[in-house]
Amino acid sequence: MARVAVVGSGIGGLTAAIALQRKGFQVDVYDQASELSEIGAGVSLGGNGMRVLDALGLGKAVRDISANLHRIEFHHWRGGDIFFEHPMGDWYEQRFGGPFLGLHRADFHQLLLSAYDGEPHLGHRCVAVDESPDGVGLTFADGSTAEADVVVGADGLRSAVRDHVTAPEEPVFSAMSCFRGLVPVDRVPGGDRFGLTFFLGPGRHLVAYPVRGGELINFVAYVPDPEWTLESWSARCEPAEAVAAFQGWSPVVTELLANSAETGRWALYDREPLRRWSTGRVTLLGDAAHPMLPHAGQGTNQAVEDAAALAAYLSIGLSFEKALQRYEQLRKTRTRQIQLGSRANATCFQVPDGPAADERNARLAGLPQMVGWIHEYDVYAAIETGSAA
Ligand SMILES: Cc1cc2nc3c(=O)[nH]c(=O)nc-3n(C[C@H](O)[C@H](O)[C@H](O)COP(=O)(O)OP(=O)(O)OC[C@H]3O[C@@H](n4cnc5c(N)ncnc54)[C@H](O)[C@@H]3O)c2cc1C
Repeated sequence: MARVAVVGSGIGGLTAAIALQRKGFQVDVYDQASELSEIGAGVSLGGNGMRVLDALGLGKAVRDISANLHRIEFHHWRGGDIFFEHPMGDWYEQRFGGPFLGLHRADFHQLLLSAYDGEPHLGHRCVAVDESPDGVGLTFADGSTAEADVVVGADGLRSAVRDHVTAPEEPVFSAMSCFRGLVPVDRVPGGDRFGLTFFLGPGRHLVAYPVRGGELINFVAYVPDPEWTLESWSARCEPAEAVAAFQGWSPVVTELLANSAETGRWALYDREPLRRWSTGRVTLLGDAAHPMLPHAGQGTNQAVEDAAALAAYLSIGLSFEKALQRYEQLRKTRTRQIQLGSRANATCFQVPDGPAADERNARLAGLPQMVGWIHEYDVYAAIETGSAA
């Protein structure tokens, strides 16, 4: 049985570990963290990601801890009036072959941890990768080592494994950060009617949706800030800072921000699409391979798709090198397009009022068609045909 070492036990790493175990691999997961605790924030899963979780037998459990987002609404930043809305719920499921769900990250992470057969090796910060024709050695910061037949770098934006695969390069700072938090639904004006809700204004925007069966509303509020460069789940700020940044916006926005028990602040980075993801026995997955700005809500969904593709190619009798090449070929074009599209979305969401906003709002009528290629994607069908499109 081939041994796979997965570096990183985030959502991408754990999903890959589960997918590989289901194909019969012996999988060890290593993480630098001394304890695993996802932060209090939301994440959305679309039909494309849910297809994989369904195939892994996790679909029902995921649905049980989620909120099904029944509609999408775009609101004007100041008046709060809706300028575009569209049903999601059953409509989305029929159109894209799976639900659109809002989840609490910690709930989802815990679910994945329970589905992984084993315990991640914690306190293992990978500092070096040593590859030979016969295997791969990992060295950790505490001096310990591990060996495997294949290594998967699922170690996020600042991946150490990435530096083995390709030349080191700094991430790209977007000069934008976001405030994130969760608010009990009864403390949000009209919160029980929230689906996927956007408030768009000049130079900033807010996205909010329910998680955990609708108990909580998750928000992410994006602001320009070239000074705030700290990219850390643990960075905190006062809710008042977020409220001040959205002064003059609809009271729904300012009350939502004010009622957050704990507000996180997160600087947003991505990278230029990588030319190369893999060597003979080492590859990358999730944010390590294609970190993207969150404006398409696809980072997790793409990591989950990666996991399905990697496990599939490694299990069909190809050499490790060939399997990793096929995985990279399948995934590179799609994730590149979504990385670049996520950057473009930020600009489009934040245009000034007036003709630019009117033009954007008119284009929203075509939204379901515009995002169809992302949400209807069936990674298993793509593996069958070997089509990267
Ligand atoms: C504000 C915001 C909102 C988002 N919203 C959405 C959304 O709605 N929908 C969506 O699909 N995606 C969303 N995303 C993206 C999503 O969070 C990530 O793309 C997704 O979680 C995949 O992450 P990952 O597992 O690849 O990496 P990470 O979650 O970064 O996990 C990496 C893991 O590797 C470990 N690690 C790092 N370095 C080392 C090392 N040297 N050795 C050992 N371990 C190491 C870390 O401790 C961590 O556990 C959002 C992101 C942001 C910032």
